[in-house]
Amino acid sequence: NQTNNNQSTKLMEQTSKHPCYSREAHHKYARMHLPVAPQCNIGCNYCNRKYDCTNESRPGVTSQVITPILAQQKFIVVKEKFPNLSVVGIAGPGDALANWESTREAIERIKASNPEMIFCLSTNGLMLPHYAPEIVKLGIKHVTVTMNTVNPETGAKIYQFVHYQGKKYTGIEGAKILLQNQLTGIQYLAGQGVLVKVNIVMIKGINDQEISEVVKKVKQLGAFMSNIMPLIPVEGTVFAKLPSTNMKELNQMRDLCQIDLQQMRHCKQCRADAIGLLSDDRSREFDAVSPNLI
Ligand code: SF4
Ligand code: SF4
Repeated sequence: NQTNNNQSTKLMEQTSKHPCYSREAHHKYARMHLPVAPQCNIGCNYCNRKYDCTNESRPGVTSQVITPILAQQKFIVVKEKFPNLSVVGIAGPGDALANWESTREAIERIKASNPEMIFCLSTNGLMLPHYAPEIVKLGIKHVTVTMNTVNPETGAKIYQFVHYQGKKYTGIEGAKILLQNQLTGIQYLAGQGVLVKVNIVMIKGINDQEISEVVKKVKQLGAFMSNIMPLIPVEGTVFAKLPSTNMKELNQMRDLCQIDLQQMRHCKQCRADAIGLLSDDRSREFDAVSPNLI
């Protein structure tokens, strides 16, 4: 019992230093994303990972993809500059679990000499049933799963395809596999004491009427908080011509869902190589770091 208490106190302490999980922490603590995960195993209609622009700030965007060894070297340089660095996360530019070997190696390397860092990762959840036990074993206590619907018919409108166990699935069939794995994965992780944050992209006319249902479901599975984010329509994607979700509608939805589950309201939809405070991305200053270290 004492051990359990100590563990949960440690987790709460860590969480209070995680800029995404704690609103108070986001002005004080810096995070660093390691862009070690280029592949993705699903096709979201709002994503175009090929598009990269230094003025761009949104998930899926990075200037370069780096190896786990380079990630470790970049970490050393960044940590030197940011004594307030508390979190090392893997958020793409593809899916952290579709590149599991790189994700794991990068975390293991940094963790070996920096056990005090908080490690987190974000995923679409497709591979969670396969890797969740390893995530727990690695000591990762903060996992973000992006889950946009609990309805496969809506999923079929959001996801072009799902690559799973060597096969490509489309339409409702693909959406069902993804949904099932997200649900299984979230429940497993939450049951193991991992703080699961569920990101939901609010897409007008597609899933906006179902968001509170998603929140209720993930709460039931043990999720810690949800983060409803606006759609950013990107050129070259299927959803390019959809309207972006305005802040008023977004906040109304967050207020509604707050009744069921704690809501994150300060997400900056960061790049896959973001560095620094959430409100002050300094990743461009480190673009030169990785090539010089090769
Ligand atoms: Fe893009 Fe992420 Fe969707 Fe993969 S899961 S297609 S990287 S938005
Ligand atoms: Fe945190 Fe949102 Fe940025 Fe992820 S995208 S690091 S949740 S602020």
